[in-house]
Amino acid sequence: MTTGIVPKSSRMHSRVVIIGSGPAGAHGSHLPCAREPRTCQLTTTTEIENFPGFPTGIMGPELMDKFREQSARFGTTIITETVSKIDLSARPFRYWREMQEDEEPETADTVIIATGASAKRLGLPGEDTYWQSGISACAVCDGAVPIFRNKPLAVIGGGDSAAEEATYLTKYGSHVYVLVRKGELRASKIMAKRLLNNPKITVLWNTVATECVGDGDLLSSLKIKNLTTGEITNLPVNGLFYAVGHEPATALVRGQVQTDPDGYIITVPGTTQTSVKGVFAAGDVQDKRYRQAITSAGTGCMAALEAERLIAEEEELAAEAL
Ligand code: NDP
Repeated sequence: MTTGIVPKSSRMHSRVVIIGSGPAGAHGSHLPCAREPRTCQLTTTTEIENFPGFPTGIMGPELMDKFREQSARFGTTIITETVSKIDLSARPFRYWREMQEDEEPETADTVIIATGASAKRLGLPGEDTYWQSGISACAVCDGAVPIFRNKPLAVIGGGDSAAEEATYLTKYGSHVYVLVRKGELRASKIMAKRLLNNPKITVLWNTVATECVGDGDLLSSLKIKNLTTGEITNLPVNGLFYAVGHEPATALVRGQVQTDPDGYIITVPGTTQTSVKGVFAAGDVQDKRYRQAITSAGTGCMAALEAERLIAEEEELAAEAL
């Protein structure tokens, strides 16, 4: 909870500041507030097949442009800069933009944190060449694209994401190989059972990928290594999906709002309220389960409504006190 009131600075003061430029940030944008875009996952993805309103899919960067256009139409001030420091210990909250840390901070009555999470990559040889040309970190976002249809695919990871993504990919691929670096899965029992019982899935135990191989345009196989025997073989696959975990972008607020052991911001169930009154969290920064553009947009909308309501309530109380 907040602990006191600091004087408002002479610099910009906003009623709502949204930090983040992805779908969670964009959907709060009917509010007249400043927001600080940073690189969103949609800018590095290709086609998004599951965002409502786009029956034939839409490219990630194009969807981002539309978010921006829509925000601008509602008068949102969009500031393309990184927030380097924030103080959530008192209201109004204070934040500093990159390169301005020695200056007076800017202030906000409420803050929506929508900084997202990034999928971990493995940095394999060939990974950069075939990223989004056969390699992806989101089966649900990318699995349906034509290059994966009726083709052999691979998933790396042994957690719930790997189990879920591999099972999902069986709808599109001819066969799915799951590369697990140990001799056991980390996934929950029910998810593991579903994975192991699927005839279209083969788990390659104690196996890691060592290189992504292709024709320069598209991925066509993986070099894989059996860690028990040391044997290196070639696995022909046209798709590789990483499911080796995500990193929530919470460094900015670490220690200031409650997070779970993996660093995700904890919100009151059914709301976007964090452990600090007036600070809301939306999108992947508080969601390790769904991680879709549309679910992010949904929680972004919730955060905007909650911030708006809090401000209105506080204004009413202030008016009554006069
Ligand atoms: P996890 O951290 O649970 O699993 C990551 C997996 O990737 C582990 O099997 C790990 O192997 C493997 N891995 C990590 N680094 C490497 C590497 N360098 N090379 C090869 N393999 C590697 O992440 P998830 O995204 O699966 O899950 C995160 C959280 O979200 C969990 O709490 C999970 O339960 C939850 N979740 C729930 C879902 C649901 O209920 N529907 C769906 C998806 C996620 P190792 O085991 O050897 O460490």
